[in-house]
Amino acid sequence: MRTPRGDDESRPPMRPDPPARRRFLAAAGRALLGSLLVRAAPAVTTSESNAGVTLFLCGDVMTGRGIDQVLPHPGNPRLYEPYVRSALGYVELAEAATGPIQRPVDFSYPWGDALPELDRRRPAARIVNLETAVTTSESEWRGKGIHYRMHPANAPCLSAARIDCCSLANNHVLDWGVAGLKETLAVLHQAGIQTAGAGRNLAEAAAPAVFDLPSGGRLLVFAFGAGSAGVSPAWAATVDRPGVNVLDDFSPRAVRNIGRQIAGVKRGGDMVVASIHWGDNWGYEVPREQIEFAHGLIDAAGVDVVHGHSSHHPKAIEVHRDKLILYGCGDFINDYEGIGGHESYRADLTLMYFPTLDSTTGRLRQLSLTPMRIRHFRANRASVGDVRWLEAMLNREGRRFGSRFGAAPDGALAATWS
Ligand SMILES: [Zn+2]
Repeated sequence: MRTPRGDDESRPPMRPDPPARRRFLAAAGRALLGSLLVRAAPAVTTSESNAGVTLFLCGDVMTGRGIDQVLPHPGNPRLYEPYVRSALGYVELAEAATGPIQRPVDFSYPWGDALPELDRRRPAARIVNLETAVTTSESEWRGKGIHYRMHPANAPCLSAARIDCCSLANNHVLDWGVAGLKETLAVLHQAGIQTAGAGRNLAEAAAPAVFDLPSGGRLLVFAFGAGSAGVSPAWAATVDRPGVNVLDDFSPRAVRNIGRQIAGVKRGGDMVVASIHWGDNWGYEVPREQIEFAHGLIDAAGVDVVHGHSSHHPKAIEVHRDKLILYGCGDFINDYEGIGGHESYRADLTLMYFPTLDSTTGRLRQLSLTPMRIRHFRANRASVGDVRWLEAMLNREGRRFGSRFGAAPDGALAATWS
């Protein structure tokens, strides 16, 4: 049965740096600051040292639909999919596949074994692609087959993992219309979570999330959504329309535009993450245009990490001139457990990405990946056999890029590159 749709159609926290974001917005010719800029700064502690800055990155965090239904405050389960009319249908599918889920779960439940791993790693920033709106809006985007939403009262699910930054430049943030996007922004900011890649106008959508680093520099996270990942041109933010920071193409001109944008903000000691929702949901192919674009961002636009996502499973990793490129991080939380059709990709296996960057150059010093497996809507440590499967896949797909992976004593996969 292929009717249910899991497809996309197609430490310690750091201190936000509101003044830098304000300068960016001013430079972009807009002065619409509002609640984006007045969030209270969380307490600062650090994992950073001269050895480098460790980040946590992962791919799609889809806490809507079936996940929302098992959290403490499920929203209206009504769906507008061709065959499934209630989000509870996805809970039933998962339960049919792997057994009952005790409801309600607590807010931290979906993160499961990822939480102690985050505590152990102490990343300086936790950055995810949030693949859902956070809203009670009933204005579903007409003509779209899948609509994800999480009830705003379930936002503590993100706080439970102390997420610092959500990329919103994806093909679901406007599933519940402009009202849904605005509520998503407000709820996340109220929770002290910075966003990038969507906003109430183009200047906000294009502005980076900015964090002070204990090293004295800052972390800048820019986010972009591409048509190849199902981001509709109709969702593009404009000077006076809310929406997504849409990437028109992967041309040298686009690299130059992004380079200008980054140059207007980046200063010595800053590190730049480009978080990009691009490409197909399934398959290991990395298109030539993505490779050239990623290289261009590093060579000519001042990007230190390319954080690619949209694929439901992890893809190849490249280290280009000592800068990290994740072509597809794979999903991290979703409700696809009972949906068949792509088993060979093992999308139930996920990765927590922990790159350590040189705090002065942004160069990759170390990359460690912690494998997890989604089961009962929860991240669980992957078995030895599953870790071996991921290791073999990463080595197979990384061969053309010169990246290699091997098991480390802590159960993670450690990268080497040439
Ligand atoms: Zn997507």
